[in-house]
Amino acid sequence: MTTDLNFACTMCGDCCHNLRLPLSVNEAIRWLERGGDVQVLCEAMPWPVEPSTDDGQVQHRRVRSFAAESGELPIRVMVTVAAAFDGACPHLQPDMRCGAYEARPNVCRIYPAEVNPFIELMPAHKACPPEAWAADRPSFIKGSRIVDSITADLIQNSREAAVRDVPVKERLCGNAGFRTASLANEGFVTYTLPPRTMLDELCRALDPAAPATQAVPWRILSNRRTTVDTLNSVGAHSEMHAALLPTEGYIPLFEAN
Ligand code: SF4
Ligand code: SF4
Repeated sequence: MTTDLNFACTMCGDCCHNLRLPLSVNEAIRWLERGGDVQVLCEAMPWPVEPSTDDGQVQHRRVRSFAAESGELPIRVMVTVAAAFDGACPHLQPDMRCGAYEARPNVCRIYPAEVNPFIELMPAHKACPPEAWAADRPSFIKGSRIVDSITADLIQNSREAAVRDVPVKERLCGNAGFRTASLANEGFVTYTLPPRTMLDELCRALDPAAPATQAVPWRILSNRRTTVDTLNSVGAHSEMHAALLPTEGYIPLFEAN
């Protein structure tokens, strides 16, 4: 765990390019209303039995996912709703200032801190240049704690929103027909809809009283033949990533084999 770290933003703008910015559902609605694009990213974890409740990482994944089935295999599905852009963020100004500063998502306010408590903040994994972390910069992490209380509160808010949004995301997938996921930690299956359609689907999913489409079994895609064969051998419905539907994309985290 990082115990002490200094940091100050240099305004280089590198963290505002080529992103999938994880958003809460309410943030995603506001992002779409401001003319941005939102993608839905789906991952699935085989969940044949309930694991120990003592394992913090398992509980972290459990409360951020919903139960489903792939073939005969019980799984949990993790859904990320993300602002998606290639190149510069649509809100980035020529002078590298944020054009939506007051309305920017939580994840932008928190950067470069990590929201996931099981991921260590590593400067080498961040877009910030070396001078942002220089010893003469203000203290950012002291004794493994975020020094700035506002940032610490925003991290806590993001964690709570991720849990609160799970039933909304489950309704979103059921209503919109999102039913394909990657195997977790191998990549993501992405869903891209016209912005107006995505906005309507997110608003519909927010309403717990709205009639939901019958839940459908999930398909798990992989770019690895060994993964597909292993999943199918335990009763899942798994296929190679080439079997994408027209609204689906696949972002691998590893090379195919
Ligand atoms: S919303 Fe602002 S801070 Fe966030 S990526 Fe876009 S330009 Fe950067
Ligand atoms: S990459 Fe780091 S230093 Fe550069 S603008 Fe983003 S937060 Fe600031």
